[in-house]
Amino acid sequence: MEKSKTYDFLIIPGVEITARGAHIVALNVYEDISAGLSIEETVELVHEAGGLAVLAHPITIHKGVKRLLRGEIFDAVEVINASSFPFLFSVSRSKAFAKKFGLAEVAGSDAHYFEEVGSAYTLVNSNLSIESVIEAIRKNAVTPCGGRIPFGIRLKREALVLKRKFSQ
Ligand SMILES: [Zn+2]
Repeated sequence: MEKSKTYDFLIIPGVEITARGAHIVALNVYEDISAGLSIEETVELVHEAGGLAVLAHPITIHKGVKRLLRGEIFDAVEVINASSFPFLFSVSRSKAFAKKFGLAEVAGSDAHYFEEVGSAYTLVNSNLSIESVIEAIRKNAVTPCGGRIPFGIRLKREALVLKRKFSQ
C-alpha cells in the first residue's frame, strides 16, 4: 500500500468470503471475517468492521446463490464477473437482481492469473482515496464495464489448473 502512493494507484483492502450460500466481497476491511457463516451474519460483520458487502457473482451456475431473499442487505452486486459461466445469462440475471433491490452495480475480473486482470472493471466517479471510492459505491456512482476473460487466456488457465493437479 505504501508503493501505491508513489505510483498513483489505489489499493483497497478486501477479501472474498465464502458464506453459506454466497460469496461475499468485503471491501475496506482490516480484520479477518470467518467463512462458513450465514449470508446475513457475514454481511453484518462486514458492516460492523466498517466495510462494504458486495454480493459476488450471484448467478454463476457452479458458484452462485440459488435463492437469495434479502438482497437489500448488500451494498452492491457484482453484475459482471469475467469468469462467470454462462456469461451473458449471468450478467442479465445479476443486473435484474441489482435493479430489484436498488443496489450499486460493480464488475470484477475475478482474476486468478495476471493476464486476466482488467477483463472486467468498475468505473468509479470519485477521487483517488479509499474513502472516496467507498462513498461512490455507496451512492451508486459506479459503472460496471468489460466482458468475459478472452477464450485463449481462459484455456491457459484451465491448462494450468490441470498441470497443477497432475504435478502433485
Ligand atoms: Zn467467488
